[in-house]
Amino acid sequence: MEDIKIDKIIRSRRRTLALIVTADATLVVRAPLRVSLKYINNFVLKKQNWIKAKQQQVNENGGPVRSKEFIDGESFLYLGEIYRLKIEDCDRIELSQSLLFPKRYLLDAKGKMIEWYKDMARETIKARADIYSRSTGWEYKTIKITSAQTRWGSCSPKGSINFPWRLVMAPINAIDYVVVHELAHIHEKNHSARFWNKVETVLPDYKQRELWLKENRKFLNL
Ligand SMILES: [Zn+2]
Repeated sequence: MEDIKIDKIIRSRRRTLALIVTADATLVVRAPLRVSLKYINNFVLKKQNWIKAKQQQVNENGGPVRSKEFIDGESFLYLGEIYRLKIEDCDRIELSQSLLFPKRYLLDAKGKMIEWYKDMARETIKARADIYSRSTGWEYKTIKITSAQTRWGSCSPKGSINFPWRLVMAPINAIDYVVVHELAHIHEKNHSARFWNKVETVLPDYKQRELWLKENRKFLNL
């Protein structure tokens, strides 16, 4: 029988074992502090069909993501949907069935596309932040759209909230999670239990939304 490689074991004060197959198909086991390696190996062995299926699924999704070439038919994400690029003699980038992209932009294709994503992010994320700010009463000062690569959001001590333009590639329910997370930081700076309670009151399924971002982060880029 073919062995399954455990890439990482993370021990904590949890009670049960959990298996995670990440976006690059590595296998992570979350385990209680005192559980033996033998027990973990047996558990993994029992779940090997699930693990293999999951890893295969991840690999079919493309393995490592290549950077964009800006050619006809290439796929781009916007609000969680895939749009095919169509290079045309148009004036500006436009969204219809496809993502229409002006031929004259090809000299600086990536720069122009990032500008477009930034505009879209500003509009969409601000609208969502206003909805949640009104319903929760958590007021922010300003919103900034950044080029951050490593985090989905941040909150300044003075109450301005920042989001990377890449976030607008995610589905609206994942965007909402990041927005609510940063709004909750306006009054709770740390990730305390109080903080997570606040997030959960607004979005009871926030963990699923957060997981989507974790599993798909490598696709949310150019
Ligand atoms: Zn946070």
